[in-house]
Amino acid sequence: MTTSTLDATELYRLPWTLADNGISWLEPTVACNLNCDGCYRRQEENPHKPWEEVVGELDTFESLRRSDCISIAGGDPLLYPRIVDLVAEIKRRGLKPIINTNGVALTDDLLGDLKRAGVFGFTFHVDSRQGRSGEWAGKTDIALNDLRLEYAEMLARAGGIACSFNSTVYAENLHEVPELMAWAHRHIDIVQTMVFICFRHVVPEMGFDWFAGGEQVPWDKIWYSTEESGREVEIDARTLVAKAREQDPRFQPAAFLNGTHDPQACKWLLTQRVGDRDAIHGYLGPRFVEAAMDTYHFHKGRYLAYVSPGETRRGKAAMFLSSFIDPDARKAWRTFLGAALRNPARWFRPVHLQSLMFIQPVDFMDDGEQSMCDGCPDITVHDGKLVWSCRLDELKQYGTFLRTFPRAGCGAHHGCSGGRGMGSEAEA
Ligand code: SF4
Repeated sequence: MTTSTLDATELYRLPWTLADNGISWLEPTVACNLNCDGCYRRQEENPHKPWEEVVGELDTFESLRRSDCISIAGGDPLLYPRIVDLVAEIKRRGLKPIINTNGVALTDDLLGDLKRAGVFGFTFHVDSRQGRSGEWAGKTDIALNDLRLEYAEMLARAGGIACSFNSTVYAENLHEVPELMAWAHRHIDIVQTMVFICFRHVVPEMGFDWFAGGEQVPWDKIWYSTEESGREVEIDARTLVAKAREQDPRFQPAAFLNGTHDPQACKWLLTQRVGDRDAIHGYLGPRFVEAAMDTYHFHKGRYLAYVSPGETRRGKAAMFLSSFIDPDARKAWRTFLGAALRNPARWFRPVHLQSLMFIQPVDFMDDGEQSMCDGCPDITVHDGKLVWSCRLDELKQYGTFLRTFPRAGCGAHHGCSGGRGMGSEAEA
């Protein structure tokens, strides 16, 4: 598999921590109307949490952690009976409500209610392995761009709501990533963010034994496991950078979150590009992201996550102002000036910012340690404690996070090559 060289020491390390983060992750329900291949949340008999419990989890977040926004996830949160009240409650607390959904249950009427309640943004999970029915059944990820466009246009008509998409990346759709990025560029005026999440599963080839406390757990009983041999679980952020460079050789990430056990792992890898529907003028650099994070924190007391469409239209100002501190922004600004000289009409068109995020979840190290995202944004609440949402089912199933140890006599640990066995944070 092609990977790119990427030196994390040249990027800005996002300042997010357990106590002070851009995002927190709230799951009011596990009910869902799709069946995604990469999903790690199991259905339950009573899928919706009581309202008091959900409000209690918001209280826990507020008492333990600063956040800029609350990702309302699941399950699919649009199936939660009090979703409109929940959005209003989060907004009332001065936080940005973001809905992470597969979009199936979204109607214009519901969108209107959510907008009036104060929704800040949507992240739509759309990919080719979700078991969608009707006209979207069996479609490739490229064909699903039509569905993505429907959602993006729906939000654009409603106005003022941030629009993001995420897709799980499997061996089967990896080759489509460059075209998905090209699609996002063509709709840079209405799509603020694209997120690509590397597939996570426990597979037979992994050379680990699993333990809950002192008790061994059969690997095939873990919720996110498959007996299907040969599933590819080695796709990582560097693989995605190599793919992105097929679409644009200039592609250059700016910021990252490292792994708890690997400072060079790019667990959350952020790229900030700037352009219009006709051209990408360039990629803003680490200094731009650092200035944005620090300035926002100075004024608001928390780190920035999610930006409104009104803000992302200010690409010209972002390029010009940060060109004084950021060499990459300077390059983008010069490219824009050249394009504007050739075609003066460009001066009067908006230039947009667009974020591309690659997420590489749990990595297994040689000694069996599991390397998590250091400064995990998708922390959720369980029994009054802050926990990784990507491993919540371990707590629900076994009452503790599982530990892994290299299996005696096995030389096939996925951690050996810096590879992975699990992944994916944002399944809606
Ligand atoms: S929930 Fe898991 S994958 Fe998501 S950010 Fe946290 S550690 Fe990473």
